[in-house]
Amino acid sequence: MKDHFQREIDYLRISVTDRCNLRCFYCMPEEGVDKKSHRDILRDEEIIEAVNAAVKIGLKKIRITGGEPLVRKGIYTLIEKISQVSGVQEIVMTTNGLRLKGNVKKLKDAGVKRINMSLDTLNPETYKTITQSTLHLEHEQLIQELIENEMMPIKLNAVLLRGINDHEIPDFIALADRFDIQVRFIELMPIGHLNYDYKTHYISKDEILKKYPELMFEQKHLIAEVYTIKNKRGKIGFINPISHHFCDQCNRLRLTADGKLKPCLHTNNEIDMRKHNQQELIEIFKSAIEQKPKQHQLNKKSNPIHRSMNKIGG
Ligand code: SAM
Ligand code: SF4
Repeated sequence: MKDHFQREIDYLRISVTDRCNLRCFYCMPEEGVDKKSHRDILRDEEIIEAVNAAVKIGLKKIRITGGEPLVRKGIYTLIEKISQVSGVQEIVMTTNGLRLKGNVKKLKDAGVKRINMSLDTLNPETYKTITQSTLHLEHEQLIQELIENEMMPIKLNAVLLRGINDHEIPDFIALADRFDIQVRFIELMPIGHLNYDYKTHYISKDEILKKYPELMFEQKHLIAEVYTIKNKRGKIGFINPISHHFCDQCNRLRLTADGKLKPCLHTNNEIDMRKHNQQELIEIFKSAIEQKPKQHQLNKKSNPIHRSMNKIGG
């Protein structure tokens, strides 16, 4: 279905939990998640009902996200059920990777086609600083496991944070080359508790390109700008919601773990999806598409986004 601005909306991002095994300082509020009871989180059946309604109006690609999707109990069964909904063409996942080891095949068998793994630093000490956790991610082994299971293209997402991980850009470029994968640099967004403090750590794409002339523009691919690296394998992608917003390419709706449908990541508008029958759910999806704004107003101080990212589903 097309929205008012002729964008074809065919992509649903489903946050299956707002809980997480990390506490990335820019994503999760300091106090962590307010412990929602299981009753507040959509049950498998409610998610399947929503997916059934979504496919009827043409949403056919699903991303499973969170919070950390792999901490949801029964996640493999849920994915399998989603993949059995007639009309679902592709399921992909975004994860911090901590529960991925040894499980890539299981996810693939359940129906996941591709995995975006988030990793903001290759340095164990910086990992502790960013994630506020002592857990450790064996990223090279995980990339190898993704390659062995042909989960291509492999994308590794890093939010660049001035003064924290920006000096690691050459290390990320080397990693993209070593495994021939795409590393995507994401601009930090002023969402949730972060609000307008984000400028301390925010870095724009243009600043990076000035410093690293070996990055050569290749193409725009949906919301990402993809660059090749001179004399190296692999690619660098940029996702620039702030400096070069990509709202004209927006093709998505978001379903939060507590059952709210969000027409846009960057507004506070949300529609309650719970306790509705199938026909009502279809109407709610249509209405959400009609409510999609032309573009976000993130740069305007007057419009802060209340939910933190772990509660929206990044
Ligand atoms: N836990 C999973 C993970 O980290 O991949 C999935 C959920 S997480 C909210 C999805 C993505 O959102 C991560 O890549 C994370 O770095 C990104 N993210 C969270 N808060 C953000 C912010 N304020 N600005 C930009 N990206 C953010
Ligand atoms: Fe958890 Fe992902 Fe947020 Fe980090 S970015 S706190 S891993 S949900």
